Amino acid sequence: MDYYSSQISKLIEALSRLPGIGPKSAQRLAFHIINMPKEQVEELADTMKSARNNVRYCKTCFTLTDGDECPICRSSDRDKKTIMVVETTRDLAAYEKTGKYNGVYHVLHGAISPMLGIGPGDIRLKELMERLREDVDEVIIATNSSLEGETTAMYISKLIKPTGIKVSRIASGVPVGGDLECIDEVTLLRALEGRTII
Ligand code: ZN
Repeated sequence: MDYYSSQISKLIEALSRLPGIGPKSAQRLAFHIINMPKEQVEELADTMKSARNNVRYCKTCFTLTDGDECPICRSSDRDKKTIMVVETTRDLAAYEKTGKYNGVYHVLHGAISPMLGIGPGDIRLKELMERLREDVDEVIIATNSSLEGETTAMYISKLIKPTGIKVSRIASGVPVGGDLECIDEVTLLRALEGRTII
C-alpha cells in the first residue's frame, strides 16, 4: 500500500540508496525537495548531472578533477619526486588541508581486500608502478590503518623495494581502523612527520 504518490515513493527510494541516508532521512529530503521552488530543484539536478559528467580522473595521480590533469600535478611548485599514496580523493583532501605537504599524490581508489575480493588489479597500482619509472625519491604510503590499508601498504612496499626507491609508511598516530578523512590535521601531520622507512 502506497501512502504517498508513486512519484514521492520513487524519490524516497532513490534517495535512500545514497550512503548514510536511512529511510527516515530519505523521506525528509524527499518532502523538502517537493517543497523547494522548481528552479532550485532544477539547479540541484543540473549540478549533480554536470558534476557526474565532467569530473574525471587526473591522468597522472588519478584523483578526481575537472580537466586532464589536476591542479596539484600541474603545479610547478610541487615536489614531483615525493609521491604520497592514498586510498581516496577524500584522503588527499585531508592532507591538502594541512597545507604542509609539498609532494604529489597517487590515489588508489580502494585498498586490497581479500575478503571483499578486491585484488591488486582492482586498484590503481599498475599506474603507480608506471610513475616510478620516472625520477622518484620517496613513496610515502598513507593508506588507512585498517586491515585492508595495512595489507595494501605491505603489498606496495614489497613491489617497490626492488626498484631501490625509498618507501615509507605514515606513523600510527592515526588510530587503528581510523579513516584518514576523519582525523584532525595535527594528527595527520604527526603521522606524516613520524613516518618510517619500511
Ligand atoms: Zn593529479
